[in-house]
Amino acid sequence: MKLDVNALRYLSKDDFRVLTAVEMGMRNHEIVPTELVDRIASLKHGGTYKVLKNLLKHKLLHHDSSKYDGFRLTYLGYDFLAIKTMVNRGVFAAVGRQIGVGKESDIFEVATEDGTILAMKLHRLGRVSFRAVKSKRDYLRHRTSYNWLYLSRLAALKEFAFMKALGEHDFPVPRAVDCNRHCVIMSLVQGYPLVQVKQLQNPDMVFERILGLVVRLAEHGLIHCDFNEFNIMIDDDEKVTMIDFPQMVSVDHRNAQMYFDRDVECVFKFFRKRFNLSFEESPDDIDGSEVETDENGRPCFSSIAKGAGSLDKELAASGFSRKDQEDIEKLIEGEKDADWDDEESEDVGHSSNSELNESYISGVDSLHLLEQQEQSSDCDKEGRVEKNQQNSE
Ligand code: ADP
Ligand code: MG
Repeated sequence: MKLDVNALRYLSKDDFRVLTAVEMGMRNHEIVPTELVDRIASLKHGGTYKVLKNLLKHKLLHHDSSKYDGFRLTYLGYDFLAIKTMVNRGVFAAVGRQIGVGKESDIFEVATEDGTILAMKLHRLGRVSFRAVKSKRDYLRHRTSYNWLYLSRLAALKEFAFMKALGEHDFPVPRAVDCNRHCVIMSLVQGYPLVQVKQLQNPDMVFERILGLVVRLAEHGLIHCDFNEFNIMIDDDEKVTMIDFPQMVSVDHRNAQMYFDRDVECVFKFFRKRFNLSFEESPDDIDGSEVETDENGRPCFSSIAKGAGSLDKELAASGFSRKDQEDIEKLIEGEKDADWDDEESEDVGHSSNSELNESYISGVDSLHLLEQQEQSSDCDKEGRVEKNQQNSE
């Protein structure tokens, strides 16, 4: 998705006030009635209407008059709110080119004041229309009006909390810098997704290292659940970094065995196909530690899970509750069933990667402050995630 942050420079304090008013209204309205926006924003002399027109022009809002006259945020509008908050906090000062696009996210480079480049992941968990999901299942009953806002934010919170905890336990993951709304800021990983790597100096060693990660995660009580060549980065020294954590589950999950085996199988399959590894000898020494394997040489989930640590429980206690976890799991299962229906595509438009190669936008830091509360981080020093906004229902 194109993220033209140029408009950010020209948006006034009133523009952001109205944009925030729509966001607030979306806590309990799918389409926020225009009068309600006006009431929340409480600008003088009916200024809201003029501002709404401007925001509409910049595709930050979507106008809907089918049932009543009202507005909702577009992805771009939500992106702007998160970006502005981060800029105000001094997390970064400029947005650069897009470096990744997934079904559920867009990744950009961002630059700090001192020129350090970080990665910004904008979660798009609602990219698949929730209407399709909703008609099939009855979950998220109480939050249907702001599904994509709520769920993209939940995915970001989860990713940040997991990245931080995994980093603290010496897993090779990006450094978790900050999060706000649906946006996670992390260190930029040098290297490429494994899927792009055609040759390795030492495929056996890399294979063991990667398989070792799946095993070590399980030993800590966790399963990645999307552990494949797209979510493993590898640098020139063949050092491995894993990314993309919104779908992780505990080894206590009812389908844990299946998820674990699937992650393991992914690694075997990829290395067999891409690097012709034969696996004739079972890897009983995986990344330096002894692991029980089954008759096919696959690490044995039940024996690992028996002695598993409790990182899953630490995370559950860190502010990412069981309820949050359940919501996100249901959503991910639901998305797999749902048809593609990108309702935002009309609003913000899709473009090829080359078009997304935008020049750095500096001067974003001259933007006005949003709200006092936006100054502090959503995630405190312990990585605890503050519960606010849409989660309070
Ligand atoms: P998704 O959930 O959409 O799959 P990912 O977190 O897997 O999102 O990121 C998509 C792509 O963006 C990755 O395959 C990778 O190429 C790139 N990417 C993600 N995070 C980083 C990072 N921290 N540094 C460098 N590239 C990254
Ligand atoms: Mg991914």
